[in-house]
Amino acid sequence: MLKDQDRIFTNLYGMHDRSLKGAQARGHWDGTAKIIQNGRNWIIDQMKASGLRGRGGAGFPTGLKWSFMPKESDGRPAFLVINADESEPGTCKDREIMRHDPHTLIEGALIASFAMNAHTCYIYIRGEYIREREALQNAIDEAYDAGMLGKNAAGSGWDFDLFLHHGAGAYICGEETALLESLEGKKGMPRMKPPFPAGAGLYGCPTTVNNVESIAVVPTILRRGPEWFSSFGRPNNAGTKIFGISGHVNNPCVVEEAMSISFEELIEKHCGGIRGGWDNLLAVIPGGSSVPCVRGENMRDAVMDFDALRDVGSSLGTAAVIVMDKSVDPIKAIWRLSKFYKHESCGQCTPCREGTGWMMRVMDRLVRGEAELEEIDMLHSVTKQVEGHTICALGDAAAWPIQGLIKNFRNEIEDRIKAQKTGRMGAMAAE
Ligand code: SF4
Repeated sequence: MLKDQDRIFTNLYGMHDRSLKGAQARGHWDGTAKIIQNGRNWIIDQMKASGLRGRGGAGFPTGLKWSFMPKESDGRPAFLVINADESEPGTCKDREIMRHDPHTLIEGALIASFAMNAHTCYIYIRGEYIREREALQNAIDEAYDAGMLGKNAAGSGWDFDLFLHHGAGAYICGEETALLESLEGKKGMPRMKPPFPAGAGLYGCPTTVNNVESIAVVPTILRRGPEWFSSFGRPNNAGTKIFGISGHVNNPCVVEEAMSISFEELIEKHCGGIRGGWDNLLAVIPGGSSVPCVRGENMRDAVMDFDALRDVGSSLGTAAVIVMDKSVDPIKAIWRLSKFYKHESCGQCTPCREGTGWMMRVMDRLVRGEAELEEIDMLHSVTKQVEGHTICALGDAAAWPIQGLIKNFRNEIEDRIKAQKTGRMGAMAAE
């Protein structure tokens, strides 16, 4: 179990003072100017050495991403944009940083922006996070008043402005290019790539979009060193990570742990076990609603990191662990996710606009067993026609949960169809 002295987020639960003074007492904003004066190459090299992979779901190496930004300006400004549009069902980790430990993020924004030659950073926060926005704005105002932001930020010699922008509550604005469109005042519709944001992002200028947690861990990594950070987790899966565990555990929680902790240890140590015991575990969605579910029996020994969860046919995603016990109808649970993705599709590409609705309607019939057995394969084939054939990853996100359901619960789907045909539906848990 991660020791308290190795936690980056020392106020995740809001038990302590979240003000600048409180954050400084816990070691934040310590030697920020000195870190910056080491220069941007040093910072990027340290981040690469730490092995940090993006915490927003895709797991792309953060230091490498930063290195794609132009070293010298061609006259255009560069921007850092922080994606705080945390809207994936099950995911609720960044909100704890923003409302309880906001100075980790603000200090990280300054250092990361400097490393990418950006004098300006925007934080795009989801529309529903009203209290989180207020807490974060208070912290930003406080940082300005104390000289940590603005001209010669924190005495570093770097001029830096940080703006908080409130979204209007659309899941698709968490896709980085839709987020940039929205920030520019347009409809939140993803852009075709290339060009990638590092070449032409916000207002056509070089831009990097990073997740809140990815930026908030930066100052501590640079203070304590990349070796410290990479000492947690398996190779290629380094660091500490915030997990958000919801559903049928005894104590759902958000907790910072070492990467590569086993699922069983995570649940036993922090969540008081599975509701009704391990034999009552049906399935787990280990990384937020867009990743495939895994059957309970295959999850108990699973290791919670990027590579290991890929090996069990799923993904770490945002580390939003959704636990389902045997009271859950898995078909209905995945139907609900299909409904969500259908609702959130921006509609600009056909496979997603039409496919998400089509998949949801078939799922709706599967819940009631009102389908033919052949339709299971047909549904699977439609998910394959959506996956990888759309402008952004929402198409994949809509397809993967259904693929996971068919792979893991095909017998249950077939049984329900057969029961419907033979009039045994009363015995099924469809409603
Ligand atoms: Fe919009 Fe869906 Fe296409 Fe993404 S995949 S651009 S959400 S229609």
